[in-house]
Amino acid sequence: MKSIYHKILAEINVPENALVFAKIRAVIDPHAEDIVHSFYRIMLTDKKAILFINSDLVKHRLKASLINWINIAFLYRETEKEQDAYLKYQLEIGLIHGRIDLPISLVNYGMYLIKNKIVELLLHSKLNRQELNKATLLSSQVLDCALGLMNESYQGELIINEKESEAFKLQFSTHNLAFDCERLRTSLSDWMRELLFTIQQEQFDVDHLPTIRHSNFGLWVTHKAKLFLINRTEYIELVQLLDDIDEILLKLKDGFKDLEQRKILLKELNMFVSKSIWLLGDIAKEIIEKDNGRDSLTRLFNRRYLETVLRHETECSMQSGLIFGVLVVDIDFFKKINDNYGHDNGDKVLVQIAEVLTNEVRAGDFVFRLGGEEFLIVLGDINSKVIMRAAEKICLAVEKTAFHLNDKQSLSVTVSVGTAIHDGHPDFNRTVKLADTALYEAKNNGRNRVVAANQSALTYAEIMR
Ligand code: GH3
Ligand code: MG
Ligand code: MG
Repeated sequence: MKSIYHKILAEINVPENALVFAKIRAVIDPHAEDIVHSFYRIMLTDKKAILFINSDLVKHRLKASLINWINIAFLYRETEKEQDAYLKYQLEIGLIHGRIDLPISLVNYGMYLIKNKIVELLLHSKLNRQELNKATLLSSQVLDCALGLMNESYQGELIINEKESEAFKLQFSTHNLAFDCERLRTSLSDWMRELLFTIQQEQFDVDHLPTIRHSNFGLWVTHKAKLFLINRTEYIELVQLLDDIDEILLKLKDGFKDLEQRKILLKELNMFVSKSIWLLGDIAKEIIEKDNGRDSLTRLFNRRYLETVLRHETECSMQSGLIFGVLVVDIDFFKKINDNYGHDNGDKVLVQIAEVLTNEVRAGDFVFRLGGEEFLIVLGDINSKVIMRAAEKICLAVEKTAFHLNDKQSLSVTVSVGTAIHDGHPDFNRTVKLADTALYEAKNNGRNRVVAANQSALTYAEIMR
């Protein structure tokens, strides 16, 4: 599709303008160097501009390019091919501006300077009044069109840059960051072991105690982690751990001779190092989970794609009239299971619950682990009766399942379920909230049961049926 700039260029380059172009060039061409000269004189006094251009660069490269640009700008372009080539040329310049991140305001300011200079030259030329009017109008149209084109592609380039850097971040964080975390965990335990070993050497010089900031781990935290985890609490925790560790190392230097004190400090040091190792493990796990949208324990979907799925279902529902429903499933007294049988056995229950849920729904339904012992199921093409039956089936299946902790031991577990059907409202979060409220009621009513959300007698979608 042709852009508005194709249209503008076609309008400017009409035969009646051929002579006006020639007149503009006759006035401007002998002064092209002057225009460029005064342009850069002003630009080089601008604080923002000098970040991008210095006088050497101007002298050797930019002046010649700008003179060329001015000479080319006022050529009469009769054919579409010539106009297309000119359009590409201006877009290309915009791309360059984008690549070097030149602020758009600076480009606009530059064009403002050029325009002023050209109008000034025209005003002082020998053109008669009518010629002057035509020349001023046309030169202004030419410059506006060029600026528009530059900014157009500039914005396009900026968007591409942003997308690429996002993609880079994503790619980087998934492939490398998780890998780094795992590697650093090993390197940290090596660091600790080595420290303990060297301290025990007879000829150990306390001045040569290493600092954690200069270790692989420290460098990674202050460089890479800072870049990729900057807004996350894990980053703050990591930096705090670096401080804590280095502080102990300093104390160790001072009180090295006091054996008792040394023992206490080393114990503390070991604790902080272990903490760092755990934290790195958590970060790696989270990065990997986020990456593939799956929960690492149950292999169910995690929250990452929940919105996408709900938005998709809402759109389908609004187009086709078929409605979807949401089940929020929460394990009853799960804390007790953890307390009585340990966290690892709690995890085993979570994995088996996930299996039951997956087996009880249809292949086209989505099962998510929302977090902890809470799950959400999105059921497509459903009505209030069917959703109730589906939820009851799940409740019963869990109740009947023997959850194995090991070869000998198994236990019974129950779940409570809240259900809601999408009532046609475009905000899908409403449906999730309704199901949540219903779940709360199921818990209050004694657990191991299903409660349907209190939705108005006939929903939008049911009326549509
Ligand atoms: P209710 O019937 O009211 O839902 O009681 P509950 O004990 O199930 O609920 P509560 O919210 O009090 O406790 C949930 C527990 O789930 C607390 C937390 O330790 C545990 N939990 C959360 N995530 C995990 C996990 O990944 N693994 C294990 N083993 N336990 C988890
Ligand atoms: Mg619970
Ligand atoms: Mg819960």
